[in-house]
Amino acid sequence: MQNFKAILDEIYADAKRAKEKGTVASYIPELAHVDENNFGIHLRTLDGFEYGVGNFDTIFSIQSISKVLALSKAMALIGESVWERVDVEPSGSPFNQLALLEIENGIPRNPLINSGAIVISDILLTHLKNPKEDFLNYVRELASDPNIYYNLEVARSEKNTGFKNYAAANLLKSFNNLVNPVDDVLDFYFHQCSIEMTCNQISDAFFFLTNKGNCLTNTAHLTGAQAKRIIAIMLTCGFYDEAGEFAFEVGLPGKSGVGGGIVALLPNHFVITTWSPGLNKKGNSLLGMQALEQFTTKTKLSIF
Ligand code: GLU
Repeated sequence: MQNFKAILDEIYADAKRAKEKGTVASYIPELAHVDENNFGIHLRTLDGFEYGVGNFDTIFSIQSISKVLALSKAMALIGESVWERVDVEPSGSPFNQLALLEIENGIPRNPLINSGAIVISDILLTHLKNPKEDFLNYVRELASDPNIYYNLEVARSEKNTGFKNYAAANLLKSFNNLVNPVDDVLDFYFHQCSIEMTCNQISDAFFFLTNKGNCLTNTAHLTGAQAKRIIAIMLTCGFYDEAGEFAFEVGLPGKSGVGGGIVALLPNHFVITTWSPGLNKKGNSLLGMQALEQFTTKTKLSIF
């Protein structure tokens, strides 16, 4: 068994020494005010090992990391029909332009870009009885933790600044790829982005994807085949237009968010979450990516 603790401690010490930390997202005040010195990592392995270092127990805005969980719920609800409304091809556009540019004939390029996630929100809105409440409870259940919440100020700020998301939703609506009213779909989408979690909670919530669809309490949330599809999309679409670079450097399926979080996993082995709010030019956490590169290099554990 590898000494994961020593490896994570080493990576943490390196990150703490880093001079270049990237740039904290500034499109809403709630993100702009986050201290760039936060840095946390949490690892959970399938065989029961768990370790966190740094600010692994501090909540932050999960933002686009939520898109994977929304997709999982949509697959659990309607299965393969999800793919009639959203494609599975990687993105070629920068993260801040995704909303408009990635819709071809009304079909978003994949479910992890904004336009695709907005279609997934529409599916959840149609199929959940109390969408916002039910989705939050789904995330809590996955993480085995009732203490997970929306940040309503973040949701409000997302709404006030979400012009591209409105444009995308209206375009999708014009192609009849939204069933529900644009405002309702976006309200759900903005809340989903506003969820706050710790690295530890995110590792726990994503455990089911490393474990063939079964969460920490061994409840089945997806079939193994469905989990496989979601992991594949994380690998090819999880990092805006930097998915290739992430595969090249780190070699794990994952998903980032502009709050500075990254979750990555090796199927049947482990899930690891990093948080460092400073982003690189592509919108992915700069030190988070470096930490994960070190982790897979030092442990020799990646999918390649
Ligand atoms: N809430 C952001 C938006 O819809 C998503 C940010 C992200 O990509 O993490 O613009």
